[in-house]
Parts: sequence; structure tokens; C-alpha cells
Amino acid sequence: MKTALISDIHSNLEALTEALKYIESDKEINKIVCLGDIVGYGADPAACLDIVTEKASITVIGNHDSAVARLTDIEYFNFVAREAIHWTRNNITEEHAAFLSSLPYEAKEDNILYTHSSPEAPEEWDYIFSFQDAQFQINSFPESICFVGHSHVPGIYGRTMQNPHEHGEVKLDPDEKYIINIGSVGQPRDGNPRLSFAVLDLNEYSIEIIRLEYDIETARGKILEFGLPKYLADRILAGR
Ligand code: ZN
Repeated sequence: MKTALISDIHSNLEALTEALKYIESDKEINKIVCLGDIVGYGADPAACLDIVTEKASITVIGNHDSAVARLTDIEYFNFVAREAIHWTRNNITEEHAAFLSSLPYEAKEDNILYTHSSPEAPEEWDYIFSFQDAQFQINSFPESICFVGHSHVPGIYGRTMQNPHEHGEVKLDPDEKYIINIGSVGQPRDGNPRLSFAVLDLNEYSIEIIRLEYDIETARGKILEFGLPKYLADRILAGR
């Protein structure tokens, strides 16, 4: 049985829908875990929240979720992100906000840790962009694998290896420890605009980071139409 891991959807309904199409076509996937930042930046926060609450069996909180729910100080964010957080608050229901407020910083199961930013101090929203960043964190948790998102840059990092994830399944070593950044569904930032998420196969002990094209033009058009900052529309096109 396999687990699909999604993160940093950022209200991008087109990207989320495309990722789910893939996930639901693989009958071996029996669980979806969401690593947070469901909202912020994009034009469809309510629809994305409805989908995640219905489909994900585990969800942890991201920094944008936390800011929208008024748990993290909005001053922490740049101007563009702040604009999107204000807009998002006005475009979700009270139930959505209550759901975001209820989310934990981390979840654990089957020797795996799930958190949005970093295992050492999830509430400080530190970023893991690289092998070096991962080395500072890799001994801070007892589980064999820690899955993160937050930087929007996918990568598989062990104590001695790194895999920038290009294509196909990566076999994991049961004696190694890993931090695996699954990238972003809704706003990739590694120069590749294709959406990113991961599929974990616990039987095979392997991980695959999936990259897919999606309807960027529609997602981009809605950002412009709803008066969100143009920079956010351009960003998903560039994947940066
Ligand atoms: Zn994010």
C-alpha cells in the first residue's frame, strides 16, 4: 500500500485537481497526507480546503494556514504574502478558519514524522532547501523519515546521500535516516513550474517525487481576475 504526500497547495485548485487525478488513478494509494499551506497566494482557498478536509487523513499546519487562522503574526510575511493572507481570510468560511486553527504542527505514524517546515522546531518555520540544511536537522527526530514541504524545493536527503529527485522511484535504505522535501503542489520554486508531490511505498520502502503539468493559465488568470498581486500570477508560470 502506498501513501501520497501533498504540500504547499496554496489555493491552486488546478494544480491540486491534477495531482488528485494522478493519486486516484493509482489504486495502490490508500492514504493522503497533507503537509500544510493549503491556502495563501492562489485564488481558490475554499475549494482547496474542502478537498483537503475530505481527502487527507492527516494534515499538519503550514505558516500561511497559521497566519490566515491568526495564530502566526502577519508581520512575519512579505508584502505580497500579506496581501494574499488578508484576501484569503475574506474568502473562506468560519468553519474553514476553525479547521486551520485545529491543525497540529506535526504528526507521527509508522516510524515517520510529518511536519511543514523542519523537525527541530516546526513552529519557527525554518526552511530546508538543500542537503546542508537537512544535515542540521537530521538527528533532531527519532523516526526514520521526516517529510517536509515549506521551501517548495523537492529533494531526498540522507546523512550521506542526496537525490535531487529527477525521475522515478528512489529505493530507501532501512538503516539510513531521511528528510524528504516533497516540493509544492501549487507554487513550485525550483525553476520547474510543474506541480510536485510524493508517493511513498512502505512495502518496497521507496519514494517517488512526481512532477506533472497542470492548467497554469487558468490558475494564473484567476489570480489576476480576483485582484491578487500580479507577482503571484507570474510566479507560478516561472516556477520560482
Ligand atoms: Zn508554502
